[in-house]
Amino acid sequence: MKMIFGKTQKQKFGTYEGAYSVVTDREIKDSQITLTDHEVEIVTRLFKGTIHVGNVKDSWGAAEKTFRLYPSGHQMHLNLVYPKPGKSELRLYLAAGKGFMPETGDVVFLFIKDAELWIGNMSEFNWRFQLSALTDDTDDNSYQDLINQNRQATVDVYNRKRRVALDAMAHARYRCEATSSHRLFVSKATGKNYLEAHHIIPVSLGSQFNVQLDVIENVVCLCPFCHRALHHAEPGIAVPILDRIVKRRPVFTTFGVTANDLYNFYALEKII
Ligand SMILES: [Zn+2]
Ligand SMILES: [Zn+2]
Repeated sequence: MKMIFGKTQKQKFGTYEGAYSVVTDREIKDSQITLTDHEVEIVTRLFKGTIHVGNVKDSWGAAEKTFRLYPSGHQMHLNLVYPKPGKSELRLYLAAGKGFMPETGDVVFLFIKDAELWIGNMSEFNWRFQLSALTDDTDDNSYQDLINQNRQATVDVYNRKRRVALDAMAHARYRCEATSSHRLFVSKATGKNYLEAHHIIPVSLGSQFNVQLDVIENVVCLCPFCHRALHHAEPGIAVPILDRIVKRRPVFTTFGVTANDLYNFYALEKII
């Protein structure tokens, strides 16, 4: 698998390491996935020297390895072999009868939890919805109310501060930071252009960082369209908005993240 778990995936699946990739049509037709890169590392570390070398039908049961199916946790046995003596390829066999039968285009993921290997699949659509750190921010509306109405937020588990957002808006000169020409209206509460504050590194990932995330360096001010689109739009609309934020607001050195990490946090990465 080419993709390595980022902080969002680690947090969601409760693991320190995992990998994922999109299943190809060829793999589905052959009922087998050739594991690569990080997948191979994870699988070989867990099963050490016990993976069968040779044909899967050589000796009955020799190729079977125990996996746990996500999310049920059901234990199942899947065939895993090195088909060639040189161990150049590691092959995992799909098995509908055992409950593991992804469809073409699904995201297949593997991760280690409590010294066991978990495997699962979901549509790319569900992956992007469930694995976005933004999906966890259910208090966002009340946070925007706090900023723009100066009303005590009724609920905000992340305890975001109004002052930080207002400073960020002044810093942005009361313009949408994704596209400065975006049409805005004057807020009747502040007398300034109405903007929404958005944390570039999602505050729901706060426990994964040693530094405070509710700081001006991490707050970008967006017009309502860009902000809602970043949270709710499909990748065709959301990715260009994130592209512009990444370009204009380099949060990377301050918080120790890369541009790729950011796409991963939003589940807007290109999955291969
Ligand atoms: Zn936001
Ligand atoms: Zn905008």
